[in-house]
Amino acid sequence: MEKIIEGVYKLKINLPFTWTPEMNIYIIMGDEITLIDTGPGDIKSLQSISDSLKDIELELKDIDKIINTHEHVEHFAGDEEIKKASGATVSAHKKAAKIIQNFTRYISELFNAIRGADIEPRMKAVAERYLYLQSSISSSKVEKPLKNGEVVDLGSFALEAIHTPGHAPGHICFYDEKRKILFSGDQVLGTGTPFVGYGITDLVIDRVANKLGIKKVEYGNMTDYLNSLERLLSLDIKLILPAHGPIVGEPYKKIREDIDRKLLREQMILKALESGENTLEELTRKAYGSFQLDYLLKGSTLAYIDRLLALGKIEKILKENQTYNKLK
Ligand SMILES: [Zn+2]
Repeated sequence: MEKIIEGVYKLKINLPFTWTPEMNIYIIMGDEITLIDTGPGDIKSLQSISDSLKDIELELKDIDKIINTHEHVEHFAGDEEIKKASGATVSAHKKAAKIIQNFTRYISELFNAIRGADIEPRMKAVAERYLYLQSSISSSKVEKPLKNGEVVDLGSFALEAIHTPGHAPGHICFYDEKRKILFSGDQVLGTGTPFVGYGITDLVIDRVANKLGIKKVEYGNMTDYLNSLERLLSLDIKLILPAHGPIVGEPYKKIREDIDRKLLREQMILKALESGENTLEELTRKAYGSFQLDYLLKGSTLAYIDRLLALGKIEKILKENQTYNKLK
């Protein structure tokens, strides 16, 4: 447990995922004791939270409030167990709340929808494994769905919810105006930038949307993500406390670097398109130069394609059942 400033502690826990090995949970000692995010919900991480709380003479049962930065599992999966121990209430953005409250049903519906669906066997296997890993996660009621600009009042702390969609549609950063600190969730990380695009389940949902009765689904969105970063630049921030990686002491420098980094990748995609028509696979290979974690990279390239289409810089063409992208 690390004390950041008076009343704010950072607790680092290990995650059972290879792509993000650890995360930060923050404890705010306002008049109400609050956790920002709750980890992946497995026994080990819950034990680690409980052990760390002892450093500041607290127990799980002392938690009054939980706030979730967004609807990705490692940020909310511990909610239900911590609620059971403490009776804490949960707050999250209203879009995140929809997922958090219906998570168990959502995973089983997806399982059913992809069973027998017309998807490449490898994609199906990866998606099923991913869903299986999430099948033990409990849904949790969100007592307080939040809107942009709403303030979570913790007595001596007041946290403004800043809706920052892009990495996830229901992502919020929490801003303490008095102390000029921003709890940035995954929007701004300690190092590097977050994944923005279609995860494997999103790619599968896209293919089985009919079976699920879904008309429009919201995933990661590159333009939203960039706009959210611009929005953070307009706040007066001294310190960023991210959900992964070290604390950010130079907020504006980091945010600008993040914007540049994503725009540079976009330039690489536009450059690749100068050679003519390209499939998603070709563009991904050219922009990333590798096919490790290929679904994630494809999902990310897809987010750039969505953005470039919306900006009117490229167009899609369909030839012999294959989709190509080309410069307009
Ligand atoms: Zn996330």
